[in-house]
Amino acid sequence: MADMCPNCGLPLELCVCKVLDRETENKIKIYAKKAKFDKVMTVVEGISSDDIERTTKELKKALACGGTAREGHIELQGEHKMDTKKVLAKMGFKESNIDVT
Ligand SMILES: [Zn+2]
Repeated sequence: MADMCPNCGLPLELCVCKVLDRETENKIKIYAKKAKFDKVMTVVEGISSDDIERTTKELKKALACGGTAREGHIELQGEHKMDTKKVLAKMGFKESNIDVT
């Protein structure tokens, strides 16, 4: 019986968790999401926890919107997907690592 990956439950020889980990390292995802009362929020995933407070502050200032740093992601009020990417790039995040969906 093969060993199973505790993460995905597949046999270790089929498991790609380690590979995915490496590929998603420093990958930032930006997408819009419906919030309460028909409002839209912009979600930023992939900012490391060391950076998340500072990044949230910068984004709120640059976009002049409300926002919150949550565990593992940032929520900004309103739809700012493209502007968020621009601000992050300006802050030094690699543009090619930023996915806007
Ligand atoms: Zn796995």
